[in-house]
Amino acid sequence: MGYRGRFAPSPTGDLHFGSAATALLAWLRARAANGAFLWRVEDIDTPRIVAGCEQQQRDDLHWLGLDWDEGPDIDGAHAPYRQSQRGPMYEEALARLAAQGLLYLCDCSRKEIAGVASAPHAGEEGPRYAGTCRRHGMRQRHWRRPPAVRLAVPDREIVVDDLLQGQLRQNVAAEVGDFILKRGDGIYAYQLAVVVDDLAMEISEVVRGVDLLTSAPRQKLMAELLGGRAPDFAHVPLVVGHDGSRLQKRNTAQTLRGQRAQGSTAAQLLRTIARTLGLQVPDRTDLRLQHFLDGFDISMLRGCREVRLHVEPR
Ligand code: GLU
Repeated sequence: MGYRGRFAPSPTGDLHFGSAATALLAWLRARAANGAFLWRVEDIDTPRIVAGCEQQQRDDLHWLGLDWDEGPDIDGAHAPYRQSQRGPMYEEALARLAAQGLLYLCDCSRKEIAGVASAPHAGEEGPRYAGTCRRHGMRQRHWRRPPAVRLAVPDREIVVDDLLQGQLRQNVAAEVGDFILKRGDGIYAYQLAVVVDDLAMEISEVVRGVDLLTSAPRQKLMAELLGGRAPDFAHVPLVVGHDGSRLQKRNTAQTLRGQRAQGSTAAQLLRTIARTLGLQVPDRTDLRLQHFLDGFDISMLRGCREVRLHVEPR
């Protein structure tokens, strides 16, 4: 099987310099390998979806010079390419996990979980779940609130060898606990959808922002439990403002849409992103994304977790 890469934004806001950098690197990586490139719409968390955002993202990506072989606008062998339309596949994956006795229903509230948690920390994803409901399995009971579906995480270490960030070892059971695959409100979790889709779409390598690095062990585990092989991972640096601040998809000075509205050209944007990432910028006035293919080597970003937005000297 040849290289198959993807860019999978959530249509929850405008693409900014950071998402553009990730998209550009994912595209360059796929095209430099003569591989296929997919655009997938991660619109699973319906309450957070912004109307018109998918179309805006598509236009912005085209404007930057990206093209794709499969996606919601052109279809392909693995359609549909919108997660909101892939529910039956997520349900089928859940059934396979349930058949292995790996799922259980849980009606614990956030507050209860925080109260039981052994450690107050556990980072941005909230406290580790102690597995309170695990003993009940999938049995129906009297629910205090609509139950979520959790994975009974096997107690073993998962090793991810990230192309850029090196080796990551994590015992998911000890560090994250039994995570949610389907929420009480019926929405499938990102951790389920992304794994089912990357497997079904035969993605060979995931290029995405380093903010998702800590999800990789969970996703590798899930792929294995579903009888597949996880893709390789290359987590690329996060772009922050020139002053180190976090980029905002609401700040029009930092979004592709805003930049376009202010009259920036794609060539200017490409130059800014390339300088930000430290890529060699071809010396030509008609600069296009293809021009970066020559000599492109993603490993120059090895060990790099954060880059500051380049500002052109006046
Ligand atoms: N949909 C996710 C996001 O927009 C990306 C998921 C992934 O690349 O695995 O942050």
